[in-house]
Amino acid sequence: MMLFAPGSVAVVTGGSRGIGRAVALDLAREGAHVIVNYAQSERDAKEVADQIAQEGGSASAVQADVTDEEAVKRLFRTVRAEHGRLDVLVTSAGVTRDRYLIAMSLEQFRAPVDTNLVGTFLACREALKVMQHQRSGSIVTISSSSGLDGGFPGQTNYVASKGAIIAFTHALSNEAAPHGVRANVVAPGFVATDMTRKVPADIKKRYESRIRLGRMGRPEEIASIVSFLASDKASYMSGSVVVAHGGGLQ
Ligand code: NAP
Repeated sequence: MMLFAPGSVAVVTGGSRGIGRAVALDLAREGAHVIVNYAQSERDAKEVADQIAQEGGSASAVQADVTDEEAVKRLFRTVRAEHGRLDVLVTSAGVTRDRYLIAMSLEQFRAPVDTNLVGTFLACREALKVMQHQRSGSIVTISSSSGLDGGFPGQTNYVASKGAIIAFTHALSNEAAPHGVRANVVAPGFVATDMTRKVPADIKKRYESRIRLGRMGRPEEIASIVSFLASDKASYMSGSVVVAHGGGLQ
């Protein structure tokens, strides 16, 4: 039995790479039609949609920079026009701009806040309009365990954006619940993607050796949690934060 009924529609922001890519593939394997959103990586996004089609699922790749209000509105207008419904939104689009605080420019502070937090807000707002109207839907935002524990040195901007996503999703879940819409957050620890490939090798090694389960997470291990939360199997969960960090640091 698949998690999503035939005709279910899901949007994954930042679905072209990393965690979002794994989420898109997993949602499709569980029966949803997936709109794979991307900002720049058109080829990667199309490959994700192609892979889904090859596996017998259904997907499309749609460009929209989540920091661009008009682009996000257009994305959800397209979803409404082509499918007439929206069952799942997963907000995985995210960036880092690591820099020690004393050297951080205002632009460097704002960049992750814009993509991670404001981008989440814009996508959730447009999705909620559709979901509220149909009186059903499930939103899963992607925060980070760093939003709870402070992350690495050099990540004040990123951690601020990720902590805010937890608070935002909680508040959103309160507003959405009376309309039959659920919203939950996944807070992953250290997951092997392009984002963590950028972390200097010595810091990565030191950090990895402290993870209780002894290794970094795989995107698929986050995706299975997201699919569960997005599905009716989690029908009594809203406003919850699920932390997936390999047991945390020792
Ligand atoms: P990643 O491999 O670098 O992928 C980032 C994704 O976000 C790409 O698909 C990228 O698409 C998209 N994106 C970036 N800016 C965008 C924008 N303005 N509009 C639309 N899409 C945009 O990163 P990841 O590790 O998978 O991270 C995904 C999410 O998980 C992020 O929110 C991140 O903070 C969170 N997370 C990651 C980890 C980790 O250890 N990897 C841990 C905790 C939380 P384009 O290439 O098309 O721009």
